[in-house]
Amino acid sequence: MDMTNNKIQLHDKVFRKYIDSIDLQNAIKKIASQINMDYQHDTPILLNVLEGSGLFLADLVNYLDIPIEICSVKCSSYQDLQTTQNVKKVIGITRDISNRRIIIVEDIIDTGLTINTLQDYLQQFNVQDIRIATMTFKKESYKGSYPIDYVAIEVENKFIVGHGLDYNQLGRHLKDIYQLDI
Ligand code: 5GP
Repeated sequence: MDMTNNKIQLHDKVFRKYIDSIDLQNAIKKIASQINMDYQHDTPILLNVLEGSGLFLADLVNYLDIPIEICSVKCSSYQDLQTTQNVKKVIGITRDISNRRIIIVEDIIDTGLTINTLQDYLQQFNVQDIRIATMTFKKESYKGSYPIDYVAIEVENKFIVGHGLDYNQLGRHLKDIYQLDI
């Protein structure tokens, strides 16, 4: 990985620094304190959407004061820089989550296709309620039908990497968020 002037190269693409890790952490702290208030009498299940959301989920848990449980599901819709328009089948939930409060934890919400598919999938489990927390939100391209309850940072409609988000598997380890440089 090449790194000069706040720019990095991953595979064939150059990215420039977009969101500093300190700003990102402060934004995550803010939504964590909101969740602390909203769930003070509950033990919600944080639904870890693999693979990118793990770092955000760890931050969130670190800033939460309430007891939580964690459950993981897998579904991805991106290859290279383009959404494939069809979300692969959701794989996951193997235990009883009925009557539980669920918080879907996402690294990024773009068109909303993934979130819609996940919400539809979760309907069969008779959960108490479902909310959505996301590290980054591309509000302009969102066409989903569900409200996004907790947004750490709104981003432009451009491809980003870092803090769990990858470009063909690279870039997940970056502490700051980088945007495709064009
Ligand atoms: P959606 O289904 O909301 O259109 O897209 C959500 C999924 O697309 C995310 O979970 C993520 O995998 C991928 N995605 C969307 N935008 C970006 C982006 O800017 N950067 C990266 N790395 N992945 C993205």
